[in-house]
Amino acid sequence: MSDALFINGEWREGSGDRLVSTDPVSGEAVWAGATATAEEVAEAVSAAQAAFTDWSEADREFRIDKVKAYQEALKARAPAFAEAMSRETGKPLWETKAELGSMTGKVDISIRAFTERTGERENATAFGRAVLRHKPHGVAAVLGPYNFPGHLPNGHIVPALLAGDTVVFKPSEETPLSGQLMVEAFEAAGLPKGVINLVQGGRNVGAALLDQPIDALMFTGSAAAGDHFRRRFAENPHVIVALELGGNNPLVVWDAGDPEAVATLVVQSTFVTTGQRCSCARRLIVPEGRAGDAIINAVVALAQRLTIGPWDGEDEPYMGPLISAQAAAKAHAQVRALVELGAEPILRFSGIEGLSDAFVRPGVYDVTGIEAPDEEIFAPVLQVKRVRDFDAAIQAANATRYGLSAGLLSEDERLWRRFLARIRAGVVNWNRPTTGAAGDMPFGGLGASGNHRPSAYYAADYCAYPVASFEAPRPTSILGEMKGVR
Ligand code: NAD
Repeated sequence: MSDALFINGEWREGSGDRLVSTDPVSGEAVWAGATATAEEVAEAVSAAQAAFTDWSEADREFRIDKVKAYQEALKARAPAFAEAMSRETGKPLWETKAELGSMTGKVDISIRAFTERTGERENATAFGRAVLRHKPHGVAAVLGPYNFPGHLPNGHIVPALLAGDTVVFKPSEETPLSGQLMVEAFEAAGLPKGVINLVQGGRNVGAALLDQPIDALMFTGSAAAGDHFRRRFAENPHVIVALELGGNNPLVVWDAGDPEAVATLVVQSTFVTTGQRCSCARRLIVPEGRAGDAIINAVVALAQRLTIGPWDGEDEPYMGPLISAQAAAKAHAQVRALVELGAEPILRFSGIEGLSDAFVRPGVYDVTGIEAPDEEIFAPVLQVKRVRDFDAAIQAANATRYGLSAGLLSEDERLWRRFLARIRAGVVNWNRPTTGAAGDMPFGGLGASGNHRPSAYYAADYCAYPVASFEAPRPTSILGEMKGVR
């Protein structure tokens, strides 16, 4: 059993339920520990509150140095951390190594964003000066998802710490080991005690955290949880809520040229990370007739060439398993429901004989003419819709309550201009996978995909609030400016 909690600079066992994280490939336990009780969560929040004044009032350079020390600690641990993350999530090693790269890269990007987006600005005035500053909120609760268990919480925590917030982090219950390794790197960086705290557990521990007097909720996860949090904090304007949620992302292919080149972009958009990226394409919209058929055939042919296997198998896999057999069972049920509604299998979504139940083969389903539910299937499943003209394609693409990512594959730049103008999404790509994102750009979605507080480069914005000050060195009479004084 691991010491599951990190509170006020000390590791210790929790007193709550036992949590076990298992390798989705072998079913073996990779981490076990006791979760936090509501009292322990309260202690973590108190520790973060107590640390806030010194941390937020410290020199900016002090905080930058500490976060850079974290970057160094992460770099030193990157190979072992990537392997542990692969074991815990089943993601291929090439992916978890890239994730560690994103985490270390995030530090420099966040320092830049902190200065550029939330720095200070001063203008001289007749009375003295007008100054814009940014101040941290206080204690930030960070709830992480399992699909990028390092990169995504890191994307909230690093900007929050730079801004001067203190943090209580609860990783996904599917990935406690990855969360622990991240906090160990913060510990190695010598952060003052209480600045970052870790509590482990499931939704009940998350809920206990949100019952505490937190000042910010930084959340990456499902739209259902996001809906709940919107309501949960609707009457608490004190808490800033940043929601990074799922999507039902469309990819339109129109006058796109070589179907085989197109297929590479569709397959990467749809099946990378076994379809477990929020930005994965879920819906492929193509022209009716032969042009659409050629695209679909090329996509299916390439999907069948993808190597699927354990992260440490002899052949480097393109895809590992889903996070768990339960996640696979949920996806199988969603696909069965689609088929019952009339979806036609083009490539069947299925389990894989000889591998654990968490492994799946990619599926492609024709949903033209049926009312497919506007739901995210967080698995490698593509729904194809054939439409008559480009306006119908845009209409179909926008027919979702979500608005995270969207893409157009086309050789016609005029179509791209039309698409860009009309599509409603926060990440809109042209001839690139829908999953293309960069730490030095904002990342977030509209509608059910978020709450207009994009993360990545814009995370700095929700980690601090702007304060406008009009300052004069001493009180000077303004009687001359006052009207109606006798
Ligand atoms: P999830 O919503 O099930 O859980 C995320 C975290 O929130 C976990 O730590 C969980 O314990 C906690 N949580 C969930 N419901 C809670 C509640 N009611 N009260 C308190 N805590 C609660 O998400 P997941 O399944 O881990 O992650 C996958 C989802 O995340 C997908 O929908 C995916 O699209 C989305 N996602 C979004 C982004 C983005 O940047 N927009 C990035 C990655 C993943």
